[in-house]
Amino acid sequence: MEITIKKVEKLKDHPEDSKLGFGTHFTDYMFNMDYNPEQGWHNPRIEPYGPMEMDPSTMVLHYGQAIFEGLKAYKTESGDIQLFRPKDNLNRFNRSGNMLCMPEVDEELMLSGLIELLKLEKDWVPSAAGTSLYIRPTLIATDPYIGLRSSNTYRFFIILSPVGAYYPEGFDPVKIWVTRDYVRAVRGGVGTAKTAGNYAASLYATELAQKDGYTQVMWLDGVELKYIEEVGSMNIFFVIGDELITPELNRSILSGVTRDSVIQLAKSWNMNVVERKISIDEVYAAHADGSLKEVFGSGTAAVISPVGNIKFDGEEITIGEGKVGPVAAKLFEELMNIQYGKADDPFNWIVPVK
Ligand SMILES: *Cc1c(COP(=O)(O)O)cnc(C)c1O
Repeated sequence: MEITIKKVEKLKDHPEDSKLGFGTHFTDYMFNMDYNPEQGWHNPRIEPYGPMEMDPSTMVLHYGQAIFEGLKAYKTESGDIQLFRPKDNLNRFNRSGNMLCMPEVDEELMLSGLIELLKLEKDWVPSAAGTSLYIRPTLIATDPYIGLRSSNTYRFFIILSPVGAYYPEGFDPVKIWVTRDYVRAVRGGVGTAKTAGNYAASLYATELAQKDGYTQVMWLDGVELKYIEEVGSMNIFFVIGDELITPELNRSILSGVTRDSVIQLAKSWNMNVVERKISIDEVYAAHADGSLKEVFGSGTAAVISPVGNIKFDGEEITIGEGKVGPVAAKLFEELMNIQYGKADDPFNWIVPVK
């Protein structure tokens, strides 16, 4: 399919790399494509970034039939632009869409649309250390209809945002909060999909955590309120004794690309990586007997985010004296080196934009 391009009249000024923050600046262009049952996906186009007009009855606004992805483009020292495991994100996009009864988007077409967009927007990829261009592919239900069914028509779009660190703490350890009163997802639900409602469902408990001085909620499973699932928009890892443990993919946890990268890297360093159920009680017991060495989150936005404190049932524990541990530090450095083209790419994760 031919991708048409409509030029903007006036390009925006770029923010300074040091003032990027996360998710507040958007580039000049976006990619759009429409779906209806008669034509399938059609009219792929790159257009000026701007508001989308929609009917107030548009289904996504009422029933939340929406999915998205999050990946990044990185600038290398020589000025080239590269993507990290984009096919894994685009594949997960379709897996999310399947769970929400949405039509699949051809993964090659999404990737070529993204690459065309990035070629046009390459000056927007920031170059200061730790900065990148965040990419947000999104699919929404667009029928103007009030009544519960899945939509017949859809809009797919990709927007781009130059970003700095996700957490204001940067690579400093964050404080996380555990509750038995709220859950993010349940067995048989849509926890494995990157779908809008999961994030809306997480806001209330996250606000409670923040009022109590914590950055994020670490969710427990929705059935027994016992086993750790994940944190905010990150998967979670524990170094206990000589094992690197992460909750197994149990049909309510989001299967992170960074999670998988951490597992592959750690295994390649001959670390003892275990995917299994891990309860909050086990973590507290490991802290009590001194075997809990490190806790850290993994996700595209924050890459690796060390956890310094956990609070559960009114009891706060401090991990590794609140400092960054060696496993988190090594994973962070190696992942960043691969993403920014400073290290070899033995797993073939990098896709150059050219
Ligand atoms: C996106 C996300 C993750 C991390 O996935 P990555 O592919 O590593 O970015 C983890 N948990 C949730 C709930 C997420 O939305």
